[in-house]
Amino acid sequence: MLPVFPVFSGIPHIATGDLVREELNSSGTLSSQLKEIVNQGQLVSDEIIISLLSKRLEAGEAKGESGFILDGFPRTIRQAEILEGVTDVDLVVNLKLREEALLAKCLGRRICNHCGGNYNIACIDIKGENGKPGIYMAPLPAPPQCVPNLIQRADDTEEVVKERLRIYNETSRPVEEFYRNRRKLLEFELPGGIPEAWPKLLEALNLDHKDKHIAAA
Ligand SMILES: [Zn+2]
Repeated sequence: MLPVFPVFSGIPHIATGDLVREELNSSGTLSSQLKEIVNQGQLVSDEIIISLLSKRLEAGEAKGESGFILDGFPRTIRQAEILEGVTDVDLVVNLKLREEALLAKCLGRRICNHCGGNYNIACIDIKGENGKPGIYMAPLPAPPQCVPNLIQRADDTEEVVKERLRIYNETSRPVEEFYRNRRKLLEFELPGGIPEAWPKLLEALNLDHKDKHIAAA
């Protein structure tokens, strides 16, 4: 997930998962249909996601919003195609992290089963080699009162995480290609956590996209 960075604080951050949750808790037109889908354990269709998204974008425009950051969407080529008919995307930022670091991050995830806090015990310190820069990501330690209650998600095993990554790579590659062909893709290799990545990301955005504002990431 792309964290909301301070410089974008005036620009709304839209995550489609939040849109679905908001609609479920509302009395909106799609709410009962959504409840049925979720209760049956089915995936929410692209059409429903896009319709929630258009509704959100129209509401934003009416309020005078001049842009938005889309988080985690589109994930498939079909979603990208439908999105193109709904709004103009200026720029797509592909945040990349080496697989060994991603894997260590997922395996290091801990949740406090009392307060729901999210922490990470992984200390990632991969040395640079063969021209590849090293990566350092500090752990996110739990406060003492949470430590006795830390649990690991049942699906954060090496096997499951690797399978998730494989599926992600398979579906995201055509989406990257879609935006690369339209010259809208910015590839960004994460050098570490947010403190290391943030200045470099700003630099990349300013150098390559001076007069564009960021509509999607
Ligand atoms: Zn706690």
